[in-house]
Formats: sequence, C-alpha cells, structure tokens
Amino acid sequence: MPKSVSQRSRYGIVPPMHELSLMNNLLDHALAAAGGERICALHVRVGPLSGVVIESLRFAFDALTPGTPAENARFDIEETAPTFRCPHCGATYETPVGNYHCPACAATDGELTGGYELELISIEVPDDV
Ligand SMILES: [Zn+2]
Repeated sequence: MPKSVSQRSRYGIVPPMHELSLMNNLLDHALAAAGGERICALHVRVGPLSGVVIESLRFAFDALTPGTPAENARFDIEETAPTFRCPHCGATYETPVGNYHCPACAATDGELTGGYELELISIEVPDDV
C-alpha cells in the first residue's frame, strides 16, 4: 500500500518562509564555501534586531540539510547584542535590548550601529582528507 507524503504540511512541520529562505541563502553560501566537501559544522551570528526566530532557523536547518553535504552538521548560532556608539563620548558598547545607557557617560541617545546581522561566520569541514 503506497503512502502519500504530500500531507506532511498539514501537520505544521513546514518552517516559516522567512527563516526558510534565509536559511536557504546561508546554506548556499556554506555549500559553495565547502566546495563539495562534507560540512561538519556551520557557525552563524544572529543579531537580536534581525527579526530571525532562532528556533525557526534551527527548524529550517533541519528541514533543508538532509541530502546535502551539510546533513547532520552541527549548527552553532551565536546571538549577538545590539551595539551602540555614544555621540557624546565616543564609547562603543553592547547592551541588552531595552537598556541603552552609555556605560561611560550614561547618555541614552547612543546610535545603534549593529544588531541586524544574520551572517555565516564559518564552516567546519573534515580535517582528515
Ligand atoms: Zn557616552
């Protein structure tokens, strides 16, 4: 008796399109960088203002990697804090979302300079070739 697999999406296992397409891009970069080698691990950096849901990104990773050289690779996600530059004293600093005080002069109007990133930092390929 043949089994249909086309009903899988009814059970909500399809990841959100946003993370899916972002993950697709990251995976393309990783596979190109690996040049066909197997990938042991991917390391990405995600800013808190990128709008990326970490859990969904992991889900997308699990959904997209089977059958690729990145299948079963470790997926390291580094979550960054927003970064600011103080216009008064020039200090650069990171704070958790919701607290924007300059640690040097306590000004609250620091300019946001980072936190929107979604970057592929590195990949690991097997050493023993
Ligand atoms: Zn300052």
